[in-house]
Amino acid sequence: MSRPQALWPLFSDLTVLPGVGPKGARIFAQMKIATPRDLIFTLPHAGIDRRRQESIRDVELPGTVTVEVTVGRHRPAAGRGPARVEVEDARTSFLLIFFHARGDWLTRMLPEGQRRIVSGRVELFDGIAQMAHPDYILHTNEADTLPRYEPVYPLTNGLTQRGMAKAVAGAIGLAPELPEWIDPGVIAAEGWSDWRRALATAHAPDADSDLATVAPARRRLAYDELFAHQLTLALVRADRRRKVGRVSRPSGRLSSRVRAGLPYSLTGAQERAIAEIAEDMASPHRMGRLLQGDVGSGKTLVAFMALLAAVEAGGQGAMMAPTEILARQHLESLTPLAEQAGVVIEILTGRDKGAERAAKLAALQNGDIHILVGTHAVFSDDVHFADLRLAIVDEQHRFGVSQRLALGQKGERVDTLVMTATPIPRSLSLAQYGHMDVSILDEKPPGRTPVKTALVAAARYDEVVERLRAALKEGRQAYWVCPLVAESEVSDLTSAEDRFRRLRAALGEGQVDLVHGQMPPTEKDAAMAKFAAGETGVLVATTVIEVGVNVPNASIMVIERAETFGLAQLHQLRGRVGRGAAASTCLLMFGAELSETARKRLEILRDTEDGFHIAEADLAMRGAGDVLGQAQSGLPRFRIADLERQAALQATARRDAQRLLEADPDLSSPRGMAARTLLWLMEQDKAIQMIGAG
Ligand code: ADP
Ligand code: MG
Repeated sequence: MSRPQALWPLFSDLTVLPGVGPKGARIFAQMKIATPRDLIFTLPHAGIDRRRQESIRDVELPGTVTVEVTVGRHRPAAGRGPARVEVEDARTSFLLIFFHARGDWLTRMLPEGQRRIVSGRVELFDGIAQMAHPDYILHTNEADTLPRYEPVYPLTNGLTQRGMAKAVAGAIGLAPELPEWIDPGVIAAEGWSDWRRALATAHAPDADSDLATVAPARRRLAYDELFAHQLTLALVRADRRRKVGRVSRPSGRLSSRVRAGLPYSLTGAQERAIAEIAEDMASPHRMGRLLQGDVGSGKTLVAFMALLAAVEAGGQGAMMAPTEILARQHLESLTPLAEQAGVVIEILTGRDKGAERAAKLAALQNGDIHILVGTHAVFSDDVHFADLRLAIVDEQHRFGVSQRLALGQKGERVDTLVMTATPIPRSLSLAQYGHMDVSILDEKPPGRTPVKTALVAAARYDEVVERLRAALKEGRQAYWVCPLVAESEVSDLTSAEDRFRRLRAALGEGQVDLVHGQMPPTEKDAAMAKFAAGETGVLVATTVIEVGVNVPNASIMVIERAETFGLAQLHQLRGRVGRGAAASTCLLMFGAELSETARKRLEILRDTEDGFHIAEADLAMRGAGDVLGQAQSGLPRFRIADLERQAALQATARRDAQRLLEADPDLSSPRGMAARTLLWLMEQDKAIQMIGAG
């Protein structure tokens, strides 16, 4: 299937546009604009009102003004100063200022005694109004050529507004009329115009209100992006479901043994999630499910039950964690359960080498290992399973998209379960996981005492240390997380090592230990193990302990320079305590200059432990890219749509996409064909491959 001919001009080289040569194309490339298509989706972000005024007095200064003037006396440049031209509008006189004006250009442009229209920014200098380098100097009979409201585009070095506007106009000229891909009901309800019209309108704003996200033309173009993305996700989902998967019917033979051995009963939410997963696995289609749950909601056990289901059905299961520490910890917490069930569990990480690794791989290939826990080493090409039926990815957003795809290819028709440690706001989860089914653990195991959270100024360091000393005497344990001061890991490390030395001096040699990312792995493990065994009282750490680490006796979390962390990250860190019976405390220490916003963010954390609430707040305050880490998140980059503010629109797009595919799975109806054009227009290559030649 190839790109519809109508779209060819939009995908041609930028140099076809007026005023754009090879050099210009390189400049546009810096803005990630490679084709006329990219250009038409680069909308103005501001506008200048150029409507004619009687006088500069009608406008608040400094400001942009357009007035008709009579040209007065020229005062040529003296020395390095600018040339000045006196002008007079209907009510006052002011100066036009020109630096480096060449030859007789000024006298030609502004002959004394003539009328001209000038438009530009007027400022007051020592009480004298001045317009430096007017944007426009026009004859009175050229007045019509002046836009009433001029769009302002994002630029980069070497590009002017005028050059940009010219290129954009050229690109719009290449945009064809296209058949409608949006549901007629949605079009009618929103009162949208067709694509071509919406495009032209969005580039020709008439007032500030036309630049708003809610302006119909922009909203329609945003919808197109969201719809194309949701269509892609829906196609991925449909494609997966169409592919015949394995029927892995859990017998309960193994899991019942584990259940019998648990000192607690499962929460309702855990039971629900386990049932949803079991149903997916037992069905003949491939599972693609997201397990969302707040810190401490008990995802690990749900994951283990799913792994057992794969084993009960005669296959194998694998679980991937983003770090070595977490993989080891999963192994440790799952091993007793695995023993109870009588299944063989192993770990595979980058540390496995030589003969030992070869032995593990062999055992895996002949089915002697039932469950494999590990880091991304599990993705290595030479790792082969006897019969992998379920792949689980823990702490999802730390993995890149390609790794995620590699995982699915490890086994024939493998079911996948993705677990996120951080609750994700609905709008993001729609954009990121819209192709998956979702199970949510919205209930925490009973018997937890809430974590008491307090904000403390860094200046009160000594006080904090004294309290820590007292707590240690009571046999409590604490994490001390050092700030992300740094652009470089080196300086993060220095601060952690510094803090480690100071705390050790204050609290005693054996009481304090240090763990950070650059430590040799064995030392890291040793430090974690000693802390878990209660041999050390305080563990100074960088954010390596952020996700998943589980030491129930630790009941104090101190976070330095808390304002430098994201809210979700702080929530994760705090989630390391409050796991045992003891009342837990989290101290958020902040630096001297805490801005109002920073304080508000920390207060949100102080006031709630609801991860979903925190995630929504974080999103609203920081934006999607920051919350998930754009590069790794697999989050689409929209040029127009705004994930934070257009969540409802995205939900509509998802519904629209699903309905269209239900009615027309091959996209072969007229509207389906229009939707194909949209996918081409939006460069949804993956989706296009999936529809195939049909
Ligand atoms: P998550 O991975 O969702 O942050 P974990 O799976 O690490 O949470 O569970 C946190 C703690 O809660 C673990 O110590 C686990 O043994 C315990 N736990 C899990 N489910 C229950 C339950 N239903 N009742 C009591 N404790 C539970
Ligand atoms: Mg299945």
